[in-house]
Amino acid sequence: ERTLGILGGGQLAQMLALAAIPLGVRVTVLEPDPQAPARLCARHLCAPYTDPAGLAQLAACDAVTLEFENVPVEALDALRGRVPVRPGADLLARSKHRAREKQALQRAGAVTAPFEAIESAEDLNGALGRVGGRGILKTSELGYDGKGQARVNTDAELRAAWDALGCVPCVLEGFVAFEREVSLGVARSAGGQVAFGPLVENVHKGGILRTSVFPAHVPHGTQAAARDMARAVADAWDLEGLMTLEFFVLPGGQLLVNEVAPRVHNSGHLTQDGGGLSQFEAQVRAVLDLPLSDWAPLLPCAMVNVVGAAGPEGQPLMPDWAATDALSGTRVHLYHKDWRAGRKLGHVNLVAPDPETLRERLASLEPLIP
Ligand code: ATP
Ligand code: MG
Ligand code: MG
Repeated sequence: ERTLGILGGGQLAQMLALAAIPLGVRVTVLEPDPQAPARLCARHLCAPYTDPAGLAQLAACDAVTLEFENVPVEALDALRGRVPVRPGADLLARSKHRAREKQALQRAGAVTAPFEAIESAEDLNGALGRVGGRGILKTSELGYDGKGQARVNTDAELRAAWDALGCVPCVLEGFVAFEREVSLGVARSAGGQVAFGPLVENVHKGGILRTSVFPAHVPHGTQAAARDMARAVADAWDLEGLMTLEFFVLPGGQLLVNEVAPRVHNSGHLTQDGGGLSQFEAQVRAVLDLPLSDWAPLLPCAMVNVVGAAGPEGQPLMPDWAATDALSGTRVHLYHKDWRAGRKLGHVNLVAPDPETLRERLASLEPLIP
């Protein structure tokens, strides 16, 4: 029997474990939160990520992967040489730090928005002009769901935003007037074999992903261009396992890489119900070096995130699951997390025989999810 260790026990670990079970793979997660979603479907080592006994249990697995990028370096150091960790420490060090990530993307030949690394107050001088006069300031570390970001249109706003973010290392990116956003998963075996997920189109609300749709509405050739860029990055970064690239699509069809997640991605959740291999099974296979081909839904499909929403008095608004589930082609996936405003609590996937029906079903589903 194969065993997979996961650093982190959130919803991604939950869904990785659910995909691993039918493959005959047992999952152990190291996760300090006793209420973490993966507790229900994996062996849960409830301890800090740096706990020596917990890490020893992970080291006894066939391979270790992770479900978020902010794993302490000490944990990775402790596992070094004892068990394959996929993706590896070098790739993780890049993908958890926006400035390093963008520099490494450019070195790999990928195109990004213009950016300036901001380490000190002096770095702010003239930076906004150099990225095109309008920008987004993002903390280099720990940001997700649009947290730790500010739009800036003037030098004064830039300085105020840097103060408000705590004067920590940041990246100032030029504002991209994109036409749409898409994402693409790529997996690479230890032997260098590469496989791709579907190109998915994403719509954000308030910095948080709201909807993903497959197939993406992009000009012919966009998927091939995204794959070329993903392959170049995967090879240059020596990817082992799976990672996901987020792209901006410019009006002319040109692609810019926004950021890289060293794992499955929220936009790939629709692969659970599209009829093909899911991104979770793809990551399990890639990390354990099991045979893996491209994974893509067989039918048009979409995902709507369930994010903790509040009513006028701040009261939790919870969708009527029975109603959403009753719509043809929908499936609810909940993470067993307590409600909190802005927190991802679950998602609803839907699938349809053709894109037209998918649009209709999405239009019926959307109003049911606050
Ligand atoms: P995630 O939850 O995807 O990890 P994050 O906090 O890391 O989010 P980003 O992906 O960098 O944040 O940005 C969130 C969203 O903000 C993007 O998907 C995009 O819609 C918008 N955005 C980010 N950077 C830019 C930019 N340079 N120009 C225009 N819009 C942007
Ligand atoms: Mg991010
Ligand atoms: Mg993002």
